[in-house]
Amino acid sequence: MCEKCETGVEILTRNGEGRRNFLRGGAAVAAAPLAAAGFSGSRAAAQPSDALAQSEVQAWAARDTDGTFAPYTITRREARPKDVVIDIMYSSICHSDIHTYKGDWGMPNFPLVPGHEMVGRVVGVGSEVTKFREGDIAGVGTMVDSCGECVNCLADREQNCLNGTTFTYDSPDQVSGGVTYGGYSKRIVVTEDFVLRIPPGVDLAGFAPLLCAGITTFSPINHWDLKPGQRYGVIGMGGLGHLAVKLGAAKGAEVVVFTTSQDKLEDARSFGASEAYLWSDEEGLRSQMASFDLMLSTVPVAYPMQQFLNMLKLDKTLVNVGALFPVEGAHGMMMGFGRQSLAGSMTGGIAETQRVIDFAAHHGVAATYEMITPDQIGEACERVVNRQARYRYVIDMTAA
Ligand SMILES: [Zn+2]
Ligand SMILES: [Zn+2]
Repeated sequence: MCEKCETGVEILTRNGEGRRNFLRGGAAVAAAPLAAAGFSGSRAAAQPSDALAQSEVQAWAARDTDGTFAPYTITRREARPKDVVIDIMYSSICHSDIHTYKGDWGMPNFPLVPGHEMVGRVVGVGSEVTKFREGDIAGVGTMVDSCGECVNCLADREQNCLNGTTFTYDSPDQVSGGVTYGGYSKRIVVTEDFVLRIPPGVDLAGFAPLLCAGITTFSPINHWDLKPGQRYGVIGMGGLGHLAVKLGAAKGAEVVVFTTSQDKLEDARSFGASEAYLWSDEEGLRSQMASFDLMLSTVPVAYPMQQFLNMLKLDKTLVNVGALFPVEGAHGMMMGFGRQSLAGSMTGGIAETQRVIDFAAHHGVAATYEMITPDQIGEACERVVNRQARYRYVIDMTAA
């Protein structure tokens, strides 16, 4: 467990200031390492540039539920005073993107431009932007706006905004009308409060998946306060699961993986797990009964959960972040015997997202990925569904 890399955020979020003030305060923290690394230079004075104008942007869109992606031109708004304009370099494929175009959570608006894990370069900032300057490396995750005033927003829980979070894609666009378009595109315009700072010197492509998969698995670790030495079970090891393993190991927990893929057993250990079991290994699973302090299910489909709930110690929690459907196979009496909890969690707030990025940078954690070009999006999505991804597909947006 490393205190150092979390200190800045801890102090800022506990000093009683409002959320907007905290986010502004982040600018001072952000500026120091960038300046030290020589990232300031000639762009110190932000000049109005063409990048601030409304722009036609190359994107890749699904037209229907079959997952065929084709080039599609979208319009990005003229930058408002608080907006940051980012040319996207790397954008990764999250299973949510696939659930969305398939209509698993209801029919989306087509053409659909998914993507909520992206890293790029700031090419323009509005006149009132304080946290970013042209040339900075920045990230955008699962959301691009919220009301900023409700009790949840004020508690740094923008993902739970009572007035409706604006998610990064296929969400009503409160500024421009229509719906939002995500990171399968070459540029995005976002209010600075929803832009994340990417520290210098990291693998930018490997950091893109932290913007959703990273925060989605890190937030439960924080909320349920996983401690060094505690036993932490990770069920399913795909895009989310492999980061859950790496982040849990970086926290100093004893990580145990449950997977259905034989070849992932060895990968689990290389990511920091101390043990890994196949779901079909009945004896192995039995050996894990009543032994975990926290479990995280990252499997993207519903499955009977009771066998894993049985692995929790008394009073402990299994958190489902993968299957965003009706849960299956939880037995009231069996959960009652051990007073176990089954909980849900989804993404995380902006401050907490910054925290996982800084934590990952400090501990040398990044996603394991394969790089693809935009014309390979459809094929890559198919491989994700077929459990062939190892472990994230990152689209090189500079290749098109
Ligand atoms: Zn996602
Ligand atoms: Zn709100």
